[in-house]
Amino acid sequence: MAELEGLEFGKSDFVLLDEVTMEQFMENLRLRFEKGRIYTYIGEVVVSVNPYRQMDIYGKDTIEAYRGRELYENPPHLYAVSDAAYKAMKRRAKDTCIVISGESGAGKTEASKYIMQYIAAITNPSQRAEVESVKNVLLKSNCVLEAFGNAKTNRNDNSSRFGKYMDINFNFNGDPTGGHINNYLLEKVRGKMVEAATVIIINFFTVISALEVIGFSKEEINSIYQILASILLLGNLQFESDGESVQILGQEAVNQISELTATEPESVSKTLLYRTVATGGGEVIEKGHTEQQACFGRDAFAKALYERLFGWIVGRINTVIEVKDYNPVLHGKNTVIGVLDIYGFEIFDNNSFEQFCINYCNEKLQQLFIELILQQEQAEYQREGITWQHIDYFNNQIIVDLVEQPHKGIISILDEACLTVGNVTDTVCLDSMDTKLAQHPHYTSRKLSPSDKSMEFQKHFRIRHYAGDVTYSVEGILDKNKDLLFQDFKRLMYNSTNPVLKEMWPDGQLSITEVTKRPLTAATLFKNSIVALVDKLACKEPYYVRCIKPNEMKSPMLFDDARCQHQVAYLGLLENVMVRRAGFAYRQPYARFLQRYKMTCEYTWPNHLMASDREAVEAIVTQHGFQDDVAYGHTKLFVRTPRSLFTLEQERAAL
Ligand code: ATP
Ligand code: MG
Repeated sequence: MAELEGLEFGKSDFVLLDEVTMEQFMENLRLRFEKGRIYTYIGEVVVSVNPYRQMDIYGKDTIEAYRGRELYENPPHLYAVSDAAYKAMKRRAKDTCIVISGESGAGKTEASKYIMQYIAAITNPSQRAEVESVKNVLLKSNCVLEAFGNAKTNRNDNSSRFGKYMDINFNFNGDPTGGHINNYLLEKVRGKMVEAATVIIINFFTVISALEVIGFSKEEINSIYQILASILLLGNLQFESDGESVQILGQEAVNQISELTATEPESVSKTLLYRTVATGGGEVIEKGHTEQQACFGRDAFAKALYERLFGWIVGRINTVIEVKDYNPVLHGKNTVIGVLDIYGFEIFDNNSFEQFCINYCNEKLQQLFIELILQQEQAEYQREGITWQHIDYFNNQIIVDLVEQPHKGIISILDEACLTVGNVTDTVCLDSMDTKLAQHPHYTSRKLSPSDKSMEFQKHFRIRHYAGDVTYSVEGILDKNKDLLFQDFKRLMYNSTNPVLKEMWPDGQLSITEVTKRPLTAATLFKNSIVALVDKLACKEPYYVRCIKPNEMKSPMLFDDARCQHQVAYLGLLENVMVRRAGFAYRQPYARFLQRYKMTCEYTWPNHLMASDREAVEAIVTQHGFQDDVAYGHTKLFVRTPRSLFTLEQERAAL
């Protein structure tokens, strides 16, 4: 429970609310936002509201004030949880992670940067050159990933179009020695991609200098820009059909693309217009595209170029920042702080495959959140010898299963439709889902609600997520899941004389007859990466930052109640407060409690004569009459309801 802030700023910890109701929660959130207090705790969870203005709370002095302190010694701040994670890592050799979630524009990426900045500022006090260089590369890698993975959207001018998890490794001194980045589901919508490429070519010098600091060679940087330019040129390329065959409009663009990708112009044209197919008899033939197929191929190629470029850059950064020459015997345990900046739950007017994946990811993280938070509570009560009362919470495993269960889950049904030979359409696949999942309590088939207006197009299904109902369109869902790219494009790139490009397309060495195995679908690849992510997080001590976007106008003044309430609901924040309060809302080591409240009790002021701090604390508790509201642990006092603390705080303030 955070202290040191007057009540005029509202309650700095939501567990202190008189009653856990949405009204009280919102009232406190709004009050704090209006008073410029953008951070509030729920126990150790930070709730952050995007201020949409520069705040004077990230300077060196603030960093110093939080350094090495306990959570409740300062007003709520990202720095306090960063320090808590760092201390756990350094003092107790625990791997920790900070999970940042919230919707687009809520401030996740900014938060992750402040966390990194804090960690960079408090480590390596002796300024050792090799550590400084690691820190520099870690910080610069953010800049590069933002340049390549962010784009302007109508929700956020600098929106991350990918999820990012970064591990920072520390040596026994607590100094960074390296790291590792994982990226998740880069959005490849063409418009955004072209925009991102354009932005990188406008921010040319900043990005180049960051790439150089990280250690990219001149040739590599050149190749990156050649690929970006090719993507832009592909975006302009058009086709025309005379009814019989299809031609490319503008040979000049083809020539430029071939020059930039170090391939032959004829090969580029051919790949854009034909595909190689193996017939049943093992014969290989070239089949001309229709105009529509040519457009599809071009777009898929541009997307794949972008995606592979991004993946390659991440991989290249990882080779630079990976911990080298680490000898656990000599150097002690190598500990890790992970920082996860990942898209929050999305409900739009039109929801498609991307929202389905993102919301599935949030189901997984929510499940982990509940499990870990409860686990942590439980572990603490056990350690302290306190009886723990199990609390009921909504276990969203049922929704996770609905999506990911083998054979029966939505992903399996989608994959089956993608792998079936023949013309399985989106609606046929939807039929199959409706049949198999009709009985599922979290799935609504269009057949069950024919009068529902939002399903009037009959191409939708609905999932009752933990965060609310989302109706998904199946239009184009199979194409997105197949994520098909004709093998000819892969071969074209593999045959490039540019070694960087060749390296990005190793699967291009296979000829069409050798490509026998179906590649994993986009949904399955995503599922596998999220399962691996959750495994990584589950073995770490978690800290959470829940970001809220106060309004849609990017305004520093406006607190849109309805929008905020919606986010509070789907982030499960009220539930979080309840979980926290159902056990003991407040706990503190005896000595600290005594230090803070000893002046409120005649037996402890100025000093106590009891045999132990614990007995002195018992005297304070009894004098104030809330002995039924507490439990005495081995080293800490646990208080069930925050009301008791108010009494103490008020008395303390009145003295
Ligand atoms: P997305 O999911 O789209 O990537 P996000 O949650 O990462 O969104 P950010 O890019 O971090 O959102 O924040 C959006 C914008 O809000 C920032 O560009 C910045 O202008 C403002 N902002 C966020 N946090 C802060 C802060 N702590 N102080 C000042 N401005 C902030
Ligand atoms: Mg972001």
